[in-house]
Amino acid sequence: MTQRLIVIGGDAAGMSAASQARRRRGRDDLEIMVFERGHFTSYSACGIPYWISGLVPGPEALIARDPQTFRIEYAMDVRMRHEVTTIDLERREVVAQDLEGGGEVRERFDELMYATGAVPVKPPWAATDAGGVFGMQTLDDGAALREWLDAEPRPRRAVVVGGGYIGVEIAEALIQRGLSVTLVEAGTQPMSTVDPDMGELVAEAMRGLGITIRAGLPVTGLEERDGRVTAVVTAEGPMPTDVVVLGLGVRPNSALAAAAGLPIGTTGGVRVDRRMRVPGMPGIWAAGDCVETLHRVSGMPVHVPLGTHANKQGRVAGINIGGGYATFAGVIGTAVTKVCDLEVGRTGLREGEAEAAGFDFISVIAESTNRAGYYPGARPMTVKLIAERPNGRLLGAQIVGWSEAAKRIDALAVALWNGMTVDDMTALDLGYAPPYAPVWDPVLIAARKAVDALSALDR
Ligand SMILES: Cc1cc2nc3c(=O)[nH]c(=O)nc-3n(C[C@H](O)[C@H](O)[C@H](O)COP(=O)(O)OP(=O)(O)OC[C@H]3O[C@@H](n4cnc5c(N)ncnc54)[C@H](O)[C@@H]3O)c2cc1C
Repeated sequence: MTQRLIVIGGDAAGMSAASQARRRRGRDDLEIMVFERGHFTSYSACGIPYWISGLVPGPEALIARDPQTFRIEYAMDVRMRHEVTTIDLERREVVAQDLEGGGEVRERFDELMYATGAVPVKPPWAATDAGGVFGMQTLDDGAALREWLDAEPRPRRAVVVGGGYIGVEIAEALIQRGLSVTLVEAGTQPMSTVDPDMGELVAEAMRGLGITIRAGLPVTGLEERDGRVTAVVTAEGPMPTDVVVLGLGVRPNSALAAAAGLPIGTTGGVRVDRRMRVPGMPGIWAAGDCVETLHRVSGMPVHVPLGTHANKQGRVAGINIGGGYATFAGVIGTAVTKVCDLEVGRTGLREGEAEAAGFDFISVIAESTNRAGYYPGARPMTVKLIAERPNGRLLGAQIVGWSEAAKRIDALAVALWNGMTVDDMTALDLGYAPPYAPVWDPVLIAARKAVDALSALDR
């Protein structure tokens, strides 16, 4: 008998799962129905900042496959602008609201893929109907911000609240569009995804672009007039603005799952096993920004909302739904971004995370250059390594520098994934030619410095 898979959420995790399941099971064996509350399927939210800035056209350029492609080429029943509001596990049914046509539909499932993503953190002070206040998670959010920026009266001033990587990328995009931009951050500085000493280098680059940074200044409210936001309120008084973008991070969109009785972990994400099954719930799967996963270094459950994981986890779920066998091995926290030409990469644990996980560790910072010092275009590169004491196992790494900095983190991610020590790393056979590295690559210099720091302590 034909079974039915229902997918809630039509982006990275949901559509990866659906596509994999379809590749393994034909339409007579598995009917696939997708509910997506937005206007787009399989899009790159990661590309939103570059669409906002005008660097890439959009939104079409950011869409990998549209609903019609899934319907025709993948034989899926894709219901756009349908929001699932209830999951009834007993009857194995979902209830969805038709957001445009009105009314609701009730559909049964044999297998359920929960892939609802994340929702931007919105503190109580941001709960307003005033125009000009935006969270940033889906392509619809990007479209709404674009529309506001293009409409009359044209916004001239922007405040980005929160300096995580999304806040930093959006601040850069807005300044490239010609707005005057202030980034307000409650913590000591923006780019909280790296340690403060490395984040300071990023803050410097942002100031260089003309972005005003107000750190250590929590936002407590918004002011509005005639239905439009006019200022953010801080302890120092109101800060006038025409548009506010919230970059305060995201949390798993797990409320619907929780209401249905799915297990929720300590991070707020849906709990899953390595095959992306929801434990104790046969036929129920979850993947992407809505789940929590295992950090391979700390051994702790974490919520790491990144597209790279959503795609892999969705694929794993789809292979398993399709009758195959696949597992998701966990994450080590690798991420890259940029501010203008300054590149930022990280992997593993930051100092605070290593401390929280109970590690005894050392950290070193090595200054070097991206190319041989005499080669045209040589620019500074800073590498920070965190290594366990006394065994020297690499626990974390961060790189800030100009070209060729960000993707250098991948070599460190591979070393970390494989449990290498900083001593092992000093012997790594990394590529060298003057246009690409100094004769001692910045990664090797940092590893040698870490070895010296460990032996100085244990002498
Ligand atoms: C500005 C920005 C930049 C980013 N840059 C990067 C980057 O450089 N690298 C990286 O790895 N990651 C990046 N990310 C993160 C990445 O986009 C996400 O991790 C990824 O999109 C998660 O995929 P997902 O399928 O789990 O969730 P989502 O992409 O959020 O998709 C979930 C979908 O479910 C739908 N939905 C939710 N609830 C319901 C419901 N009840 N009924 C029906 N539909 C529902 C939503 O409309 C949404 O389309 C970025 C994100 C943003 C916002």
